[in-house]
Amino acid sequence: MEREGICSICGKPGVMHSCKLCGRLVCSECYDFKRGLCKICAAKFT
Ligand SMILES: [Zn+2]
Ligand SMILES: [Zn+2]
Repeated sequence: MEREGICSICGKPGVMHSCKLCGRLVCSECYDFKRGLCKICAAKFT
């Protein structure tokens, strides 16, 4: 799911992706596309 917003991690505006674990909206830089997780959640599963 994609939508315009402000990244919950770095605060940049743009197209956001929702983390399927925590639901946080994050930018593409803060999102792990392979896993569908924000980088905070992705870090827990490495
Ligand atoms: Zn970000
Ligand atoms: Zn997350």
